[in-house]
Amino acid sequence: VKMMEEAEKRDHRKLGKELGLFVFSDLVGPGLPLWTPKGTVMRELLNDFVWQLRKPYGYQRVTIPHITKKDLYETSGHGAKYADALFEIKRRGPPLYAMKPMNCPHPAQIYASEGRSYRELPVRFAETTMVYRDEQSGELSGLSRVLSITQDDAHVFCRVSQVRQEAEIIWNIINTFYETFGFKLTPRLSRRDPAKAEKYLGSVEDWDKSEAALREILNEKGIEWIDGPGEAAFYGPKIDFMGTDAIGRRHQVATIQLDFNQPKNFGLTCINEQGEKEGILMVHCAIMGSIERFLSV
Ligand code: ZN
Repeated sequence: VKMMEEAEKRDHRKLGKELGLFVFSDLVGPGLPLWTPKGTVMRELLNDFVWQLRKPYGYQRVTIPHITKKDLYETSGHGAKYADALFEIKRRGPPLYAMKPMNCPHPAQIYASEGRSYRELPVRFAETTMVYRDEQSGELSGLSRVLSITQDDAHVFCRVSQVRQEAEIIWNIINTFYETFGFKLTPRLSRRDPAKAEKYLGSVEDWDKSEAALREILNEKGIEWIDGPGEAAFYGPKIDFMGTDAIGRRHQVATIQLDFNQPKNFGLTCINEQGEKEGILMVHCAIMGSIERFLSV
């Protein structure tokens, strides 16, 4: 009862209203927060801070449109997974378009737009941008479940041998960001559920190798971490960071994700030292996760 009272005092929906940060409108629709000038200042300060931490590591900003051909997700492998969550867009004629439910395929196409030498890698693209997912209306609540989600998203295109270094960089950024706000973070190895192989893209060897790489990073840190079987993305394993809020509740916030599937699906390569095409990996990362989620926590 005490915890419920404490939670109520700190409910972000109540605080957001009192502080004048965001509003909802029945005319606009539930799950679509409207950010006031004050709320927008807060969003931009947070986003600038993330960018300030990323920039020294060679991240570059990109900009992508919010709608796309729906077929894109058949190639990327997202199609089946996001079938129910996709907002389709009616145009005057075919092909079918959709609001983007995730960003990855677009920066992947920027990477693919030119030949890349191993000397240029890692290529690091960042953009804070909204994605749109059709959640059940019953599930929409304040900022923790919305239809328009602002991800501070970044994608690193690198060789297998560079994954450790890139994960380390992202880990540093995450630590600095959350220490600044006084959060204690616990990492979780989000790996596949071995009993449900059909849920995941790619070969068992690729999965074993990537999970082992992440486990090694966690063990080397010599810190407490949680094992998360069944918590992987369908395209690869992750290190998710769990933040503890003012009254001890745990929330998933930042994430580092390894992906060997989308690079394969999009045929992403670099030319290696031998002058041959070499497959690359993608590392997806978000520091806040989403601005909405971070602010609600
Ligand atoms: Zn991504």
